[in-house]
Amino acid sequence: MLNETIDLLIVGAGPCGSFTALTASKLGFKVKVYEEHLKPGDPEHCPGYISINGLKSLGLNPPKKIIENEVKGIKFYSPNGLNLTFESNKPEIYVINRKLFDEWLYEQAKKTNVTYAFNSIIREIKFNKDKIVAKAFSKNGGSERVQCRFLIDAEGCSGFLAKKAGLINNKRRFVNGVHAIIENIKDLDGEFAEVYLGRKFSPGFFAWIIPKNDREAKIGLAAEKNNPIHLLKLFLKKHPLVSKKARNIKILSLIAHPIPINGPIKKFFYKNFFVVGDAASQVKPTTGGGIITGFISSKIAIQAIYKNSDNAGEEYQAEWNKKLGLNFIFMRQARRFLNIIPDEKINKIFEIAKKIDIESMPLITHLDFQLNLFKFLLKKDFLTKILRFFPFFSLSFFKLYS
Ligand SMILES: Cc1cc2nc3c(=O)[nH]c(=O)nc-3n(C[C@H](O)[C@H](O)[C@H](O)COP(=O)(O)OP(=O)(O)OC[C@H]3O[C@@H](n4cnc5c(N)ncnc54)[C@H](O)[C@@H]3O)c2cc1C
Repeated sequence: MLNETIDLLIVGAGPCGSFTALTASKLGFKVKVYEEHLKPGDPEHCPGYISINGLKSLGLNPPKKIIENEVKGIKFYSPNGLNLTFESNKPEIYVINRKLFDEWLYEQAKKTNVTYAFNSIIREIKFNKDKIVAKAFSKNGGSERVQCRFLIDAEGCSGFLAKKAGLINNKRRFVNGVHAIIENIKDLDGEFAEVYLGRKFSPGFFAWIIPKNDREAKIGLAAEKNNPIHLLKLFLKKHPLVSKKARNIKILSLIAHPIPINGPIKKFFYKNFFVVGDAASQVKPTTGGGIITGFISSKIAIQAIYKNSDNAGEEYQAEWNKKLGLNFIFMRQARRFLNIIPDEKINKIFEIAKKIDIESMPLITHLDFQLNLFKFLLKKDFLTKILRFFPFFSLSFFKLYS
């Protein structure tokens, strides 16, 4: 027997789930969100480094208590310690408290009449003509069956339901991320994030330090192999630059979580089942940031349903390709390129980049739409210089994944 009938059922009260719920509810849909945990934002698995422009363009103005810091630049360090600094003349990034941010989105959605069922996990879905019937299991025991016109899967990187719907195959790749909050780190500029490259500590990705306030910072890394917690401890102890800053630090919290890294899944929908956010791997392969791109994707999905519910899936996919497709192709290739060059060559690239004044590139302004950076690099003749130095590696940049 059916317990309820709604327009939109959303799986997951992470940022993408609640943002999707809010967007849909504002357009008049009857929305219900199911979340397996007891509350939103739990556990907090990311440092919340998000572009101010990205949030504003989506109409989101988080209150002050959520914003822990504002950042206007990034300092990159090569494996041998060379530095490239990219700086804007104004803050471009908010460092947000992810727990409070997720809670805030949930509060916003609730104000527009979205209903939430916590402690409740969706494990079964059945396609029934033009409807979906989902079965929700309460962790206290008991279950309910809910019928919906559309189901939006915002379940995060596990993609359990998307796999059931046949949308995810084994080609999805992840890096193992770890995010920690520490205190007593020395010599940190409060307006700059730091990024450290090098295979020893973060093979296949990078390590970061993000200033949170006068006392605390968010530190983390991701890697395609090895235990990220061990790597983080090694990074703190043995990295030639970081070990000096981190001599007296105390780790206040630490959590590991995977990041889907090789770009979006091929198809975002099956009938009226749509996937958004980490579940669809809509995460930037270069940086691992997925909040703004997940929100943009969610908005496209809801607008497609609103405009044209008969062909909404096709419309979602087509609009997504138009808005984000090329950017993701570029970022995926950039990640691939970075992952095959050995550390010595990265050191060399830093040297060349410094000489041709790459630091004038508005990098931090274009973190959401990174194709703009590619255009800038072409203008600066940077890519041809790299091509000359490392023809084999550079060609791989242009070779698309088969
Ligand atoms: C170490 C690390 C650092 C990161 N740093 C950044 C950063 O600085 N900036 C940035 O933009 N992004 C960052 N990210 C990525 C960002 O955290 C994700 O892109 C974002 O959380 C995706 O949101 P989501 O709503 O798609 O998924 P999630 O946040 O994973 O939310 C999914 C929710 O669905 C629930 N759920 C799952 N299955 C079910 C089910 N069957 N039934 C009910 N509920 C279910 C889960 O419990 C969870 O609450 C980072 C990620 C990691 C791991």
